[in-house]
Amino acid sequence: MAMRFILLGGPGAGKGTQAKILADRYGVPQISTGDMLRAAVKAGTPLGREAKTHMDSGGLVPDEVVIGLIDERLDQKDAGRGFILDGFPRTVAQAEALKRLLNRKDMGLDGVVSIDVDDEELVQRLGGRLTCQGCGAMFHKVFTPPAKEGVCDTCGGALYQRNDDKEETIRERLATYHRQTAPLVDFYKTEGALKSVSGLGGIEDITNRIMSALEN
Ligand code: AMP
Repeated sequence: MAMRFILLGGPGAGKGTQAKILADRYGVPQISTGDMLRAAVKAGTPLGREAKTHMDSGGLVPDEVVIGLIDERLDQKDAGRGFILDGFPRTVAQAEALKRLLNRKDMGLDGVVSIDVDDEELVQRLGGRLTCQGCGAMFHKVFTPPAKEGVCDTCGGALYQRNDDKEETIRERLATYHRQTAPLVDFYKTEGALKSVSGLGGIEDITNRIMSALEN
Protein backbone atom coordinates (compact mmCIF):
# COMPACT_ATOMS: atom_id res chain seq x y z
CA MET A 1 0.00 0.00 0.00
CA ALA A 2 1.47 3.38 -0.99
CA MET A 3 1.15 5.44 2.13
CA ARG A 4 2.02 9.12 2.05
CA PHE A 5 1.52 11.12 5.19
CA ILE A 6 2.82 13.87 7.42
CA LEU A 7 3.46 13.68 11.16
CA LEU A 8 2.97 17.02 12.89
CA GLY A 9 3.75 17.85 16.50
CA GLY A 10 6.02 19.91 18.73
CA PRO A 11 9.67 19.12 19.32
CA GLY A 12 9.76 15.98 21.49
CA ALA A 13 6.19 14.91 20.64
CA GLY A 14 7.47 11.59 19.28
CA LYS A 15 7.41 12.26 15.52
CA GLY A 16 10.82 10.67 14.91
CA THR A 17 10.16 7.65 17.12
CA GLN A 18 6.79 7.01 15.49
CA ALA A 19 8.04 7.71 11.97
CA LYS A 20 10.72 5.02 12.36
CA ILE A 21 8.21 2.43 13.56
CA LEU A 22 5.61 3.32 10.92
CA ALA A 23 8.23 3.31 8.16
CA ASP A 24 8.81 -0.32 9.05
CA ARG A 25 5.13 -1.19 9.24
CA TYR A 26 4.24 0.41 5.92
CA GLY A 27 7.50 -0.30 4.10
CA VAL A 28 8.04 3.36 3.16
CA PRO A 29 10.93 5.71 4.03
CA GLN A 30 10.94 8.18 6.93
CA ILE A 31 11.87 11.55 5.49
CA SER A 32 13.15 13.80 8.25
CA THR A 33 14.48 17.23 7.31
CA GLY A 34 16.10 17.40 10.77
CA ASP A 35 18.08 14.20 10.05
CA MET A 36 19.01 15.46 6.58
CA LEU A 37 20.20 18.78 8.00
CA ARG A 38 22.18 17.09 10.79
CA ALA A 39 23.87 14.90 8.16
CA ALA A 40 24.81 18.04 6.19
CA VAL A 41 26.17 19.67 9.37
CA LYS A 42 28.24 16.56 10.13
CA ALA A 43 29.57 16.44 6.57
CA GLY A 44 30.51 20.12 6.82
CA THR A 45 28.89 21.08 3.51
CA PRO A 46 28.08 24.78 2.81
CA LEU A 47 24.40 23.96 3.37
CA GLY A 48 25.29 22.30 6.66
CA ARG A 49 27.28 25.32 7.78
CA GLU A 50 24.40 27.64 7.00
CA ALA A 51 21.86 25.36 8.69
CA LYS A 52 23.89 24.94 11.88
CA THR A 53 23.55 28.55 13.02
CA HIS A 54 19.76 28.35 12.80
CA MET A 55 19.56 24.92 14.39
CA ASP A 56 21.79 25.78 17.34
CA SER A 57 19.73 28.85 18.17
CA GLY A 58 16.41 26.97 18.12
CA GLY A 59 15.14 28.77 15.02
CA LEU A 60 14.25 27.42 11.59
CA VAL A 61 16.43 26.93 8.54
CA PRO A 62 15.15 29.10 5.64
CA ASP A 63 12.14 27.70 3.79
CA GLU A 64 13.82 27.58 0.37
CA VAL A 65 16.64 25.39 1.75
CA VAL A 66 14.38 22.69 3.19
CA ILE A 67 11.92 22.87 0.29
CA GLY A 68 14.84 22.19 -2.08
CA LEU A 69 15.92 19.20 0.03
CA ILE A 70 12.42 17.74 0.01
CA ASP A 71 11.93 18.34 -3.71
CA GLU A 72 15.02 16.23 -4.45
CA ARG A 73 14.30 13.62 -1.82
CA LEU A 74 10.80 12.90 -3.10
CA ASP A 75 12.26 12.11 -6.52
CA GLN A 76 14.37 9.27 -5.15
CA LYS A 77 13.18 5.83 -6.06
CA ASP A 78 12.23 4.63 -2.58
CA ALA A 79 9.80 7.54 -2.14
CA GLY A 80 7.79 6.30 -5.13
CA ARG A 81 6.29 3.69 -2.79
CA GLY A 82 5.20 6.32 -0.29
CA PHE A 83 6.82 8.26 2.54
CA ILE A 84 6.41 9.64 6.02
CA LEU A 85 7.31 13.30 6.42
CA ASP A 86 8.75 13.99 9.86
CA GLY A 87 9.58 17.60 10.71
CA PHE A 88 8.48 18.95 7.34
CA PRO A 89 6.51 21.10 6.65
CA ARG A 90 7.21 23.44 9.55
CA THR A 91 5.78 26.71 8.22
CA VAL A 92 2.69 27.57 6.21
CA ALA A 93 4.96 28.59 3.31
CA GLN A 94 6.51 25.09 3.37
CA ALA A 95 3.06 23.49 3.44
CA GLU A 96 2.01 25.52 0.41
CA ALA A 97 5.22 24.62 -1.41
CA LEU A 98 4.70 20.95 -0.56
CA LYS A 99 1.21 21.08 -2.00
CA ARG A 100 2.59 22.45 -5.28
CA LEU A 101 5.41 19.87 -5.33
CA LEU A 102 3.05 16.96 -4.76
CA ASN A 103 0.69 18.19 -7.47
CA ARG A 104 3.57 18.48 -9.90
CA LYS A 105 4.82 14.99 -9.00
CA ASP A 106 1.30 13.60 -9.19
CA MET A 107 1.38 12.38 -5.61
CA GLY A 108 -1.58 12.63 -3.25
CA LEU A 109 -1.45 12.73 0.56
CA ASP A 110 -3.23 10.06 2.61
CA GLY A 111 -3.35 12.16 5.74
CA VAL A 112 -1.76 14.49 8.23
CA VAL A 113 -1.56 13.26 11.80
CA SER A 114 -0.90 15.66 14.63
CA ILE A 115 0.66 14.10 17.74
CA ASP A 116 -0.54 16.25 20.64
CA VAL A 117 1.59 16.76 23.74
CA ASP A 118 1.51 19.79 26.05
CA ASP A 119 4.50 22.09 26.53
CA GLU A 120 5.53 21.04 30.03
CA GLU A 121 5.73 17.41 28.93
CA LEU A 122 7.74 18.42 25.85
CA VAL A 123 10.26 20.31 28.00
CA GLN A 124 10.73 17.27 30.24
CA ARG A 125 11.17 14.93 27.31
CA LEU A 126 13.65 17.11 25.41
CA GLY A 127 15.69 17.89 28.51
CA GLY A 128 16.56 14.23 29.08
CA ARG A 129 16.71 13.13 25.48
CA LEU A 130 19.63 11.11 24.16
CA THR A 131 20.16 10.48 20.45
CA CYS A 132 22.17 7.73 18.78
CA GLN A 133 25.02 8.99 16.64
CA GLY A 134 24.73 5.91 14.45
CA CYS A 135 21.03 5.37 13.67
CA GLY A 136 19.26 8.38 15.17
CA ALA A 137 17.23 6.30 17.65
CA MET A 138 16.08 8.29 20.69
CA PHE A 139 16.23 7.43 24.39
CA HIS A 140 15.46 9.34 27.57
CA LYS A 141 17.68 9.44 30.66
CA VAL A 142 14.70 8.70 32.95
CA PHE A 143 11.64 7.62 30.91
CA THR A 144 13.22 5.23 28.37
CA PRO A 145 16.87 4.66 29.29
CA PRO A 146 19.01 2.40 27.10
CA ALA A 147 19.89 -1.05 28.52
CA LYS A 148 23.55 -0.01 28.74
CA GLU A 149 24.38 3.59 29.63
CA GLY A 150 25.55 5.64 26.66
CA VAL A 151 24.98 2.83 24.14
CA CYS A 152 22.16 2.48 21.59
CA ASP A 153 19.96 -0.62 22.10
CA THR A 154 19.29 -0.81 18.37
CA CYS A 155 22.70 -0.46 16.71
CA GLY A 156 25.30 -0.21 19.50
CA GLY A 157 26.18 3.39 18.50
CA ALA A 158 27.17 6.08 20.99
CA LEU A 159 24.41 8.22 22.53
CA TYR A 160 24.80 11.99 22.78
CA GLN A 161 22.75 15.03 23.73
CA ARG A 162 21.85 17.08 20.66
CA ASN A 163 23.07 20.68 20.81
CA ASP A 164 19.52 21.90 20.49
CA ASP A 165 18.31 19.65 23.32
CA LYS A 166 20.26 21.79 25.80
CA GLU A 167 18.11 23.64 28.31
CA GLU A 168 18.65 27.14 26.90
CA THR A 169 17.60 26.14 23.37
CA ILE A 170 14.53 24.11 24.32
CA ARG A 171 12.33 27.10 25.24
CA GLU A 172 13.34 28.84 22.03
CA ARG A 173 12.40 25.78 19.96
CA LEU A 174 9.01 25.68 21.65
CA ALA A 175 8.46 29.37 20.95
CA THR A 176 9.44 28.79 17.31
CA TYR A 177 7.03 25.89 17.19
CA HIS A 178 4.09 27.93 18.49
CA ARG A 179 4.87 30.90 16.28
CA GLN A 180 5.63 29.13 13.01
CA THR A 181 4.53 25.50 13.04
CA ALA A 182 1.36 25.33 15.15
CA PRO A 183 -0.56 27.32 12.48
CA LEU A 184 -0.19 24.25 10.24
CA VAL A 185 -2.84 22.51 12.31
CA ASP A 186 -5.40 25.01 11.02
CA PHE A 187 -3.94 24.87 7.53
CA TYR A 188 -4.51 21.13 7.30
CA LYS A 189 -7.86 21.33 9.11
CA THR A 190 -9.01 23.62 6.33
CA GLU A 191 -7.65 21.17 3.78
CA GLY A 192 -9.72 18.46 5.48
CA ALA A 193 -6.70 16.21 5.98
CA LEU A 194 -6.02 16.60 9.69
CA LYS A 195 -6.35 13.86 12.32
CA SER A 196 -5.19 14.39 15.90
CA VAL A 197 -4.04 11.78 18.37
CA SER A 198 -2.83 12.07 21.93
CA GLY A 199 0.94 11.69 22.22
CA LEU A 200 0.78 10.56 25.85
CA GLY A 201 1.21 6.94 26.89
CA GLY A 202 3.23 4.00 25.62
CA ILE A 203 5.04 4.11 22.29
CA GLU A 204 3.08 1.12 20.96
CA ASP A 205 -0.28 2.67 21.98
CA ILE A 206 0.57 5.84 20.12
CA THR A 207 1.58 3.86 17.02
CA ASN A 208 -1.80 2.12 17.11
CA ARG A 209 -3.62 5.45 17.47
CA ILE A 210 -1.81 6.86 14.45
CA MET A 211 -2.47 3.77 12.34
CA SER A 212 -6.16 3.74 13.11
CA ALA A 213 -6.39 7.49 12.46
CA LEU A 214 -4.79 6.95 9.04
CA GLU A 215 -6.76 3.89 8.10
CA ASN A 216 -10.23 5.10 9.16
P1 AMP B 1 14.16 18.18 14.21
O1 AMP B 1 15.14 17.08 14.20
O2 AMP B 1 12.97 17.94 13.32
O3 AMP B 1 13.75 18.60 15.60
O4 AMP B 1 14.90 19.47 13.58
C1 AMP B 1 16.02 20.04 14.21
C2 AMP B 1 16.24 21.45 13.69
O5 AMP B 1 16.47 21.42 12.28
C3 AMP B 1 15.06 22.40 13.86
O6 AMP B 1 15.02 22.98 15.15
C4 AMP B 1 15.31 23.41 12.76
O7 AMP B 1 16.33 24.32 13.10
C5 AMP B 1 15.85 22.53 11.64
N1 AMP B 1 14.75 22.02 10.79
C6 AMP B 1 14.32 20.73 10.65
N2 AMP B 1 13.30 20.64 9.80
C7 AMP B 1 13.05 21.90 9.37
C8 AMP B 1 12.11 22.48 8.48
N3 AMP B 1 11.19 21.75 7.86
N4 AMP B 1 12.17 23.83 8.30
C9 AMP B 1 13.08 24.60 8.90
N5 AMP B 1 13.99 24.12 9.75
C10 AMP B 1 13.99 22.79 9.99
